Amino acid sequence: MKAIDIIEKKKKNKTLEYKEIEYMVNSYVKGKINDKTMSDFIWEVYYKGLSIEETYYLTDVMVKSGETLDLSSIKKPIVDKHSTGGVGDKITLIVSPIVAAAGVCVPKMSGRGLGLTGGTADKLESIRGYRLNLNKKEFIEQLNKIGCAVISQSEKMAIADKKIYALRNEIGAVDSIPLIASSIMSKKIASGSDIIIIDLKVGKGAFMKNIKDATKLAKTMVKIGQLYNKTVICTLSDMNSPLGNNIGNALEVKETMDFFDLKYDKRLYDLSIYISSLMISTAKNISFTQAKKLAVNLVENKYAKSKFYSWIKYQGGDINRIRNKAHKLVVYSNKTGYINRIDCYDISKLVFNLGAGRVKKSDSIDYAVGVVLKKNIGSRVHIGEPLAEIYYNKKVKNMEKTLTDSFIIEKKKKKVKKIIIKVIK
Ligand code: URA
Repeated sequence: MKAIDIIEKKKKNKTLEYKEIEYMVNSYVKGKINDKTMSDFIWEVYYKGLSIEETYYLTDVMVKSGETLDLSSIKKPIVDKHSTGGVGDKITLIVSPIVAAAGVCVPKMSGRGLGLTGGTADKLESIRGYRLNLNKKEFIEQLNKIGCAVISQSEKMAIADKKIYALRNEIGAVDSIPLIASSIMSKKIASGSDIIIIDLKVGKGAFMKNIKDATKLAKTMVKIGQLYNKTVICTLSDMNSPLGNNIGNALEVKETMDFFDLKYDKRLYDLSIYISSLMISTAKNISFTQAKKLAVNLVENKYAKSKFYSWIKYQGGDINRIRNKAHKLVVYSNKTGYINRIDCYDISKLVFNLGAGRVKKSDSIDYAVGVVLKKNIGSRVHIGEPLAEIYYNKKVKNMEKTLTDSFIIEKKKKKVKKIIIKVIK
């Protein structure tokens, strides 16, 4: 087999066989074909697309390029949750304990943030002592005892995806539906759960900018799941404005604690309860209405709160010692009107520039910095009223103005979009 023939075949829009995709991926992982040849292949796939079967082949080859996790020693129902990444997205921190408190296991591997979107691993690392690197035995032990565990993404899983994803990032070929679907699904299949709930973000602060493409991606992932005999459900959720009030690693842990003290932003609450209910109903095979009632009760009676604190403690974290040392600057409104939008992109860029994000995997970050919104979308604000707070350790040029400008304040109130757009299963 020759790489050039396989690339030519795709160029002619012909369907590739399993062994051809396997050859390309494995040869690249082993260093037998170079970045240039692999890029040529990726660009053909990017422009010509892949059928569902080809996308499944690519997923499967990437799954087999690394280790897979065996969860068979867990005796409770199990459900995994994935988010495609948004601004202020602390949903994993909130739903994992809610679902665990309902008697369902949540084994979760999370990545560190890269670029503008934060990673759950970084948020948890803002809690001193929290151990992201549990070994397999400790991970399973914790899942059996506590019901949830969040650890860092294993370097040994879906090895081919790591190498191909890095190359796609470098050459600018990330936004291809079959490539994204196979990349996400390879990691999810390797992680071992039979039920996978994917929170697919759509909008200005997400990599899927419109509902049409997001729907196509969701349908592709659901179909791949079916080919593995797994249940995959995708929620499409709005990411045109930040999720909740706090953006930044330690600040998002703080907002999670507020949530369990029943002080929450409505959109954050709605999405958290929706995802939790979907996870519980699918794993326990009960109706969504029953699951929702359970999730709401677990939050209100503080069982989920107590599960959150036991989880963090069990995994070594000291919740009283969060890395949150930063200066605070209050930003005031220069307009009177209704907040119709808060620009996700501008805010995430500001939080990134304050030091909360990294360009390269090896970069260090400032866990304490970020933004707290004092007014969220749909609220009325008066000139001179506090809009938000900036938590900083180094000043960023025009930070106050950047933040004020990211609030779109208008005379007429626009209807606040529902956080859940649709569900695809
Ligand atoms: N997230 C992934 O894991 N892979 C992609 O290709 C895009 C987003």
